[in-house]
Amino acid sequence: MAKKQFKAESKRLLDLMINSIYTNREIFLRELLSNASDAVDKLAYKALTDDKVNIKRKDFQITLLPDREARTLTIADNGIGMTKEELEQNLGTIARSGSLRFKQEMDRAEAGKAAKNVDIIGQFGVGFYSAFMVADRVVVRSRAYGADEAWQWESDGADGYTVEPCGKETVGTEVILHIKPDTEEERFGDYLDQYRIQELVKKYSDYVHTPIRMEMERSRMKDRPEDAGEDYQPEYETLREWETLNSMVPLWQRNKSKVKEEEYNQFYREKFGDWEEPLAVIHVAAEGQMEYKAMLFIPSHAPYDYYSKDYEKGLQLYSSGVLIMDKCGEVVPDHFSFVKGVVDSADLPLNISRETLQHTRALHLMESNIEKKVKAQLLKIQKEDREKYLKFWKGFARQLKYGVVNNYGAKKEVLQDLLLFPTSNGEELTTLGEYVERMKEGQPGIFYLCAENVEMAKAMPQAERLLDKGYEILYFTDEVDEFVAQTLMQYMDKPFKDAAASDALPESEEEKAEGEKKTEANRPVLDFVKETLGDRVFDVRLSKVLKSAPVCLSTDGPMSLEMEKYFQRVEGAEGMKAQRVLELNADHPAYAALALAVAQDPEKAGKYAHLLYDQALIIAGLPVEDTAEYTRLVCSLMQ
Ligand code: ADP
Repeated sequence: MAKKQFKAESKRLLDLMINSIYTNREIFLRELLSNASDAVDKLAYKALTDDKVNIKRKDFQITLLPDREARTLTIADNGIGMTKEELEQNLGTIARSGSLRFKQEMDRAEAGKAAKNVDIIGQFGVGFYSAFMVADRVVVRSRAYGADEAWQWESDGADGYTVEPCGKETVGTEVILHIKPDTEEERFGDYLDQYRIQELVKKYSDYVHTPIRMEMERSRMKDRPEDAGEDYQPEYETLREWETLNSMVPLWQRNKSKVKEEEYNQFYREKFGDWEEPLAVIHVAAEGQMEYKAMLFIPSHAPYDYYSKDYEKGLQLYSSGVLIMDKCGEVVPDHFSFVKGVVDSADLPLNISRETLQHTRALHLMESNIEKKVKAQLLKIQKEDREKYLKFWKGFARQLKYGVVNNYGAKKEVLQDLLLFPTSNGEELTTLGEYVERMKEGQPGIFYLCAENVEMAKAMPQAERLLDKGYEILYFTDEVDEFVAQTLMQYMDKPFKDAAASDALPESEEEKAEGEKKTEANRPVLDFVKETLGDRVFDVRLSKVLKSAPVCLSTDGPMSLEMEKYFQRVEGAEGMKAQRVLELNADHPAYAALALAVAQDPEKAGKYAHLLYDQALIIAGLPVEDTAEYTRLVCSLMQ
């Protein structure tokens, strides 16, 4: 029998399939099961529309038959089948768009000399030819519905194919894979193992809506006979039983009210390998512009690699129950990258590629819808179960804050209500909304204070005058907090105000004039200190913010001390320095001592100036430049 040659492009695709060192060979089963399921759907559809077709939905099935001796795996369906012409046309050329696009992609990769073959394949629905990734010979026996003869297509990939008549009594198709011999790298024989097959069906085709059945062999201990003596040895028997491997109706296709919490939790734990239950489940059945079902989970804690570049966001993408992508990042926004789950839509093509994904409008619609759902769910938890929300916040605060700052605040509206901050109001964290509700009449804005931790923030001398007036202050203890405030600028029309800034509270004209007069009167002291400290400080001033403390450090210009600390650790930005201003409290006894020394004993005054600067550094949580010198200074003044 003369062999027919594959069309040129099919040949190339086949070569690729056969030769690629392809890591995801296992998807061949998904592809063949999906074809079988399509064939069943086609006949089922015919049955609906044509009275002559006398077959019920429940009679359809796909069977898997591994045969270790013959080293074959057969995938059989009782679907629509193929005529001789269809066999030639469908299996002899690249008919389908997915394969075609795949081929074009390969051409492009090759033109760019990118040796990316390996990953490209996994992202396409590569179809029937993927059989050649695990088989060195493929036989397809098929009888089309309504035809009175059956045909056999056979190929070893490389040298073309043959088509000849065969005896097959029932309508449908059998794909017989002659599994490749094992190599050092790959044990192809595993694809004949019933447990491996079961696992693959579960993994990729669990929700195919035609039953996928296989005769499973299990060994069972025989019952102990009544008259068994003391030396009875248990006996085993092998049971063979047909089992349906796929669960067919996925959890997300079921009605929300019919799914138990335990079912959600178990699904989540198994599918996403988390030992802890999810914090929340969002079950979506979207209609309208885009129809899809989604089941989204908010984890209770951040995965260990969450804040590393190894973490990959994304949801599992299904097209009518067939898994088409394991982690589709396009459907979850970055700021909610912690969301896990599945999305299923009949509107998505099986052969979707990463390239086309980015331009798929459907996915953008889903993304924005998912963003809304997740936000609403988080707000609900925040309101109704603060303890639970705090758990979430512990794991994902950083993500949300970075989400506010990223892309020049593009997402700040979405995220601002989800933020929490420590506050002078009490032990509990507060939302911005709650803070604004508590604001006093005439309060000029939302006060914040940056410090390394809450204890230090509370001890900051700059806070005193505001707290004495009864104003509440948010404590920014995370590096990113200040950037968050700068990005938000305001919340509900209330501007953010640095509590440590001299203009944190508005000043009357009189107060201003008086301040200037006082500064003039103290000019010699201020100049002396400035000169003594040299370029350690940008300026020395009388403080408007201090009450009981003698000194503090503040800054001029846009960069704060907390930002400086942050930049110190960023490579290449170590040189970024804040303009430091030493503020002196003219009403403090230490200032009186300084002023006296400036007038009478300049050497001592110099020591005082250094000492006061060091105090300011310590209060600000900054390192004293020369600790040995500092100690000498204190001791010399004690003598
Ligand atoms: P796709 O399924 O995406 O079209 P394939 O390369 O997997 O691409 O298959 C090519 C064509 O062969 C299918 O479109 C279908 O018409 C036919 N086909 C494949 N498998 C079967 C089957 N089990 N029963 C009937 N037709 C099939």
